[in-house]
Amino acid sequence: MSVLSAVLDAARSGAVEVVDLTTPLQSSTPILELPPPFANTSRFRLEELSRYDDRGPAWYWNDIHTGEHTGTHLDAPVHWVSGKDGLDVSQAPLSTLVAPAVVIDMTAEVEKDADFLLQIDHVTAWEAEHGPLPDGGWLLYRTGWSSRGEDAVAFANADENGPHTPGVAPECARWLAQESPITGFGTETVGTDAGAAHGFDPPFACHNHLMGANKWGLTSLRNLDALPPTGAMIIVSPLPIVGGSGSPARVLALVER
Ligand code: MN
Repeated sequence: MSVLSAVLDAARSGAVEVVDLTTPLQSSTPILELPPPFANTSRFRLEELSRYDDRGPAWYWNDIHTGEHTGTHLDAPVHWVSGKDGLDVSQAPLSTLVAPAVVIDMTAEVEKDADFLLQIDHVTAWEAEHGPLPDGGWLLYRTGWSSRGEDAVAFANADENGPHTPGVAPECARWLAQESPITGFGTETVGTDAGAAHGFDPPFACHNHLMGANKWGLTSLRNLDALPPTGAMIIVSPLPIVGGSGSPARVLALVER
């Protein structure tokens, strides 16, 4: 039997489960909201062109309006100034889009502290238990934050000091970017950085270091609780927007049961 036939048989039998890690795209999908004077991205919006009516009697279709960084989406290296000479989203290597994924679970820590930051020690402790991070693969950061995904206020979790959402300590971001073998880093939150990362050194350290190392980000992931710590494969499908800094993406995981 061919390898692909075996995979398809396994998917039909349930021996391999396909898990959807994607947030549905709709006008209520949470987006990052920057304070003035910074420009903000558009919410996702459907603009109806016809629906079996005078504008098109037999067909329904829409224009879509969206930012590149809306819902579950891929950040390309060129998204950040540190990666400005790097790849755009249409140039994502296929070996990055179909790749192994491992999951580090910090849900319990984040329940106690919404501003929790992943440290190098957390990752090295994970490696001591599960083995090295996958060369050319993804580290997915499970925080439980996606349980807030249908409540924009709870998802942003902001007060007068700004948003309080989990992220990555600057030194850990530098280490993941420059010393680990991963190709990308994925989160459940609206961006890869902590809510407080505007005040980090460097600001938005995860973006700064990852993009500067020609690596990739994934955000607003769901269903990470359905993935094992190791052994999953993810399929990331951004739109191939030429020159784009990112794109909404359908992200699927294959998991052996
Ligand atoms: Mn983004």
